Amino acid sequence: MSVHMKDRLGRPLRDLRISVTDRCNLRCRYCMPPEVFDKDFKFLPRTDVLTLEEIAHLTRLFVRAAGIKKLRITGGEPLMRQNVSHLITLLNEIEGIDDIAMTTNGILLPKHAKTLKAVGLKRVTISLDCLNDEKFRYINGRNIGVDEVLKGIESAKEAGLETKLNMVVKRGMNEKDILPMARYFKDSGVILRFIEYMDVGNSNGWKLDHVVSKKEIFSIINKEMPIVPIDANYKGEVATRFKYKDDDNEIGIISSVTDAFCSSCSRARLSADGKLVTCLFASDGHDLRDFLRSGATDKEIMDRITSIWEGRSDRYSEDRLKHTNKNHIKKIEMSHIGG
Ligand code: SAM
Ligand code: SF4
Ligand code: SF4
Repeated sequence: MSVHMKDRLGRPLRDLRISVTDRCNLRCRYCMPPEVFDKDFKFLPRTDVLTLEEIAHLTRLFVRAAGIKKLRITGGEPLMRQNVSHLITLLNEIEGIDDIAMTTNGILLPKHAKTLKAVGLKRVTISLDCLNDEKFRYINGRNIGVDEVLKGIESAKEAGLETKLNMVVKRGMNEKDILPMARYFKDSGVILRFIEYMDVGNSNGWKLDHVVSKKEIFSIINKEMPIVPIDANYKGEVATRFKYKDDDNEIGIISSVTDAFCSSCSRARLSADGKLVTCLFASDGHDLRDFLRSGATDKEIMDRITSIWEGRSDRYSEDRLKHTNKNHIKKIEMSHIGG
């Protein structure tokens, strides 16, 4: 076993995204459409979900097997998971981990931000798709106002968490909100990142026409507030970074559809039910939960992690256009693996 293990396309495993729940307090229409995720929807039963201790145990083995340094906690909505701060405490104790981040819709942050920071969370990415209250209430499917998220952003900043924002851009939904969002957050101390709408899962009715490309997003902003590209912070960073010409404020664009970055994709995902998922668009994951619960030794689990990674050849986004007429391909839902 080597901490320098590479997959079949030569990519190392550098970071791990951990989904701590498949449940969410919102029903964003591009992620968990309310008609699909309704009151009859069968979420994972509690016993199928990894305990916090199991998550920490498996994470420790990922660190030992692959030398991972970065973790991101996600969901569903991670702050819906009871005692998630205890998980951060456990993860922060793992030798070798130097960065723990969380992606959240922000609504529960006013309650949790200080504690999360105190136990070792470094950064949060908060999702917000527009500032128009009526539209936002519609998009999130739960009639939650923009104010709730803005309060979450403030509480994260106050707690000293490094804060970024994600805005999913979908044509016909919020391309007109690109500029208002860019203007509003330009001097706010948080970096706004625009995400091309992706065909994750099978529930959101994705069509290529819905995608507003990186090029288009760039030109909308650039016309009013000129921006220039800047270097990536590190190899494999998913957002293309830009800075405004008239100051040093930054924005990012994540172009998973029109300019895929599979060749440097070094992230694995651990689903809430303990599957190792090697691509956001995978049909299924590889079980680690039952293996762990059946008494597998640490060495056996590390060997499994290594062999799964070494067998990986995923490059869905680079091949996407070959798949678009095959919408029947089964894919894991975003709310299971967290983006
Ligand atoms: N509930 C948390 C949140 O919304 O931040 C974490 C989980 S959510 C699945 C993670 C990120 O994926 C969010 O920023 C969300 O906007 C983004 N996302 C969800 N569905 C998407 C899609 N179809 N295309 C692009 N991004 C998507
Ligand atoms: Fe929930 Fe996040 Fe999906 Fe919205 S994007 S439904 S907040 S998991
Ligand atoms: Fe990585 Fe799969 Fe996304 Fe390509 S499509 S960047 S392999 S998660």
